[in-house]
Amino acid sequence: MDRDQLVEHLKFAAELGVPGTSRDQAWRIRTVQTTREPVEPASVGFAATGISVLDVRDAASGDSGQPVVLLRSAAEVLETIRVEIGPACTRCKLHALGRTQVVFGVGNPEAALMFVGEAPGADEDEQGVPFVGRAGQLLTDIIEKGLQIPRKDVYIANVIKCRPPQNRNPEPDEVEQCEPFLFRQIDAIKPRVIVALGKFGAQTLLRTTEPISKIRGRVFDYRGAKLIPTFHPAYLLRNPPAKREVWEDMKLVSRLLGESA
Ligand code: SF4
Repeated sequence: MDRDQLVEHLKFAAELGVPGTSRDQAWRIRTVQTTREPVEPASVGFAATGISVLDVRDAASGDSGQPVVLLRSAAEVLETIRVEIGPACTRCKLHALGRTQVVFGVGNPEAALMFVGEAPGADEDEQGVPFVGRAGQLLTDIIEKGLQIPRKDVYIANVIKCRPPQNRNPEPDEVEQCEPFLFRQIDAIKPRVIVALGKFGAQTLLRTTEPISKIRGRVFDYRGAKLIPTFHPAYLLRNPPAKREVWEDMKLVSRLLGESA
């Protein structure tokens, strides 16, 4: 198998989601030849081909003799997606409806736990960071006081990256344009557990019209992760008694994280 065939083979496998590759089309694959000491691959695929597939995070050095394929780290893939969206994305009409900036996402690119909300609000639009302001502080409390995890260790993003006017719900054409970027973020991070925050985020991800009160606290398989819908922090600010149910959901999140560790 020559280099071009190898690259084509890996691209095809990546599209299929073969472990050790990514469905993210942006992944670039490069081959290196080295005479350094061999390393034990931490992430190996294509055993049948005899080709080692290493994630660059785990590759201290290459293999000797055989070509070694280095795939980019989650942080690098996220950065590629961020660059591809661009600071002034015009793929949907929200770009012309008063947004200040694209709000990409924040946190640990290798997070085991990811939170996905609906869309940026006024504070997020101003600061360029998801979940700031009062609802964001409550989410931070849920993460740090409830789950006992530093906020910087999880990843937080929204289905839609730009603020809809008057905080209206995103419209189907906006979701259609923007959601693929979220999918690619999830595929890059590979979280073990995803918490979908609020009715819109949960219904959009799960392609359901069931009310959030019916689906919260349940566990769904989603892009290789366990997904749990729960109430949005903004809803909790208006309905503090619902915090009890969110606490129950977070206990489930903790349990799933522990089981999958
Ligand atoms: S919402 Fe998404 S698709 Fe629409 S302009 Fe913003 S980044 Fe682009």
